[in-house]
Amino acid sequence: MISLKNVSKWYGHFQVLTDCSTEVKKGEVVVVCGPSGSGKSTLIKTVNGLEPIQQGEIRVNDTQVNLKSTNLAQLRAKVGMVFQHFELFPHLSIIENLILAQVKVLKRDKAAAREKGQALLKRVGLTAHADKYPAQLSGGQQQRVAIARALCMDPIAMLFDEPTSALDPEMINEVLDVMVELAQEGMTMMVVTHEMGFARKVANRVIFMDEGKIVEDRDKDEFFNNPQSDRAKDFLAKIL
Ligand code: ATP
Ligand code: MG
Repeated sequence: MISLKNVSKWYGHFQVLTDCSTEVKKGEVVVVCGPSGSGKSTLIKTVNGLEPIQQGEIRVNDTQVNLKSTNLAQLRAKVGMVFQHFELFPHLSIIENLILAQVKVLKRDKAAAREKGQALLKRVGLTAHADKYPAQLSGGQQQRVAIARALCMDPIAMLFDEPTSALDPEMINEVLDVMVELAQEGMTMMVVTHEMGFARKVANRVIFMDEGKIVEDRDKDEFFNNPQSDRAKDFLAKIL
C-alpha cells in the first residue's frame, strides 16, 4: 500500500534521508524508531507529501506522492497523520474540529459530517466533550480528538509521529489504547514511537533509523531478540 523506493532528501547541503526503501502492506503496523535527529519525522512526513523529496519514488496505492500533479489535500485525507503536538484548531469546538475537513476536503454535507464526528468521538470515549474547546481538554483527550479527526476522513492508512511523547505519563495509555485498537482492527499504520510496549504488542515490523538511513527493517520479534547493528543494540539497551 505504501512504498518508498530509494528516497533521498536534502536540506540545503545536509542530507537528511539517504536511499530509504521500505514497503508497508495493507493492514501492517510498522514502528519507526531510532536516535533523535535520525530522520524519523522527515521519513514519515514524506509519505503524505508534507516533506518533498529530491530523489526516489513514494507511492500510496496508485498515487505517486512525489509528483507536482498529485492532489496533496486528497492524499492527506486518505493518509491521516497525528503529530506529537495535537494541532487542533484552538478557536473551534471539538465537534467543529472534526467536521471541518470532512466538509472542505470530502465535500460532505454538514449534518453527515457531524454524525460521523459524533460517532468517532464516541469511539475515543469523548462524547461528553463535543462542545468544549481544545484548551479545556487534557493532553491525552486532545490527542484522542486528533486521532478521531483523522479517522473522520475514512483514511486508508495512518501516520503517527511520537503521539504520546508530549503527554504526562498517566495519559499515555489512553492514547496508546486507541492506537492498539486501531491496529487490531486492521488499520495500516506507520508509527514513530519509543513506546516499545506498543511495538511489541501490535507492530508487524520495526524500522530502525540512524543518520538518515534505514539501518534495520525487520520482523518485530527478530528486531527485539536479535538486533543486527551495533547502533540498534545500543539504542535498545538505552530504552528498554
Ligand atoms: P527526533 O527524535 O528528535 O524527533 P527525528 O529522527 O524525527 O528526531 P528529524 O526531525 O527527521 O529527526 O530530523 C532529521 C535531521 O534533519 C536532524 O538533523 C534535523 O536537525 C534536520 N532537520 C529537520 N528539519 C529540518 C529543516 N526544516 N531544515 C534543516 N534541517 C532540518
Ligand atoms: Mg521527530
